[in-house]
Amino acid sequence: MSLIVQKYGGTSVGSIERIKAVAAKVCKFRQQGHDVVVVVSAMSGETNRLISLAKEIQKNPAPRELDVLVSTGEQVTIALLCMALMELGQDARSYTGAQVRILTDDAFTKARIQEIDVDRMKADLQAGRVVVVAGFQGVDEAGNITTLGRGGSDTTGVALAAALKADECQIYTDVDGVYTTDPRVVEKARRLDRITFEEMLEMASLGSKVLQIRSVEFAGKYNVPLRVLSSFQEGPGTLITIDEEFSTMEQLVVSGIAFNRDEAKISVRGVPDQPGVASRLLAPIGEANIEVDVIVQNLAADQTTDITFTVNRNDMNKARQVLQKVADELGAREVVADDTVVKVSVVGVGMRSHAGVASTMFKALAADNINIQMITTSEIKISVIIDEKYLELAVRSLHTAFGLDKASA
Ligand code: ASP
Ligand code: MG
Repeated sequence: MSLIVQKYGGTSVGSIERIKAVAAKVCKFRQQGHDVVVVVSAMSGETNRLISLAKEIQKNPAPRELDVLVSTGEQVTIALLCMALMELGQDARSYTGAQVRILTDDAFTKARIQEIDVDRMKADLQAGRVVVVAGFQGVDEAGNITTLGRGGSDTTGVALAAALKADECQIYTDVDGVYTTDPRVVEKARRLDRITFEEMLEMASLGSKVLQIRSVEFAGKYNVPLRVLSSFQEGPGTLITIDEEFSTMEQLVVSGIAFNRDEAKISVRGVPDQPGVASRLLAPIGEANIEVDVIVQNLAADQTTDITFTVNRNDMNKARQVLQKVADELGAREVVADDTVVKVSVVGVGMRSHAGVASTMFKALAADNINIQMITTSEIKISVIIDEKYLELAVRSLHTAFGLDKASA
């Protein structure tokens, strides 16, 4: 008999019918002899609705009150799900984050979990009940309601699984797993049976928004086996796990192709080539709270240098303003910005032990006449910045080049 934590997202509990379907699914696991703790999100659209109500009153809603408000979404779902379980003859009890005592810091709207009290949940499980916990919320030391940031129910699920030492944390969503790339871009994208935490983090931070990034970090840190699966269709989903559990036979060198459309590129040209220049250019960017991603520096023959880096598109104009000031001070020639670029990355732990991934990647892009503007690598990822008009073509070509295409499609 095992203990499973199941998290159901907003679409999975989006109507009374769907809540009843979730209850039936939970009962099936109970009948198989498992203990089940369920974490639910608010019904789909509800959190957005609550936030817009707040914004009708305050342009920037007071964070403490916003958390009191949005946490009600999940409170509705836990009660309804327990009622649905009882109707099926399954004893169940709902708890808000504060009632469990999911203790967080006091950073309203983006709180971090510090400690979870498992006693009450364990007693209920012992008594044969299903425990239903509100996702996305906690309580701080002073008793204030806090929330964990958008998509935070994933993190609640993983954190409960870690605290309860559950055998698996199952994240039920509207897709049937993690794909080799976005199926809307590549028709031949396939569901992965397994992926490592590290790969999932790279895929997630690059825009595959299946799971909240923090939940994957959390799962990796506490080694909680995490499974992403569909609430609407049967299937094994994708298991996210540690590296060692893979057999080398089934492991592909590259697991997926990720991409990010929100990139913008800024170049400072003709900067005097002296020590300290990069830091003088980038320090004010950091102070302006702008995150810098890929950085490239080129040397020119005339003792000057060009420094180019990417930022989120929303930050481009702010970054350009900040940079223009320093560029003038340094006597740089010009600052140019370009928001028609995207980042495409190949991700895979297999890169650690296989050479030639970069050359395969560059060859595939060259064959399609796609110009690479910038390159960056990490241990398990190679990213390129290219013109946005080549995004789909690049992702499709790389998907094929690394043998990720589905056999028949
Ligand atoms: N209901 C919250 C949101 O919409 C939390 C979640 O669904 O994970 O962001
Ligand atoms: Mg979600």
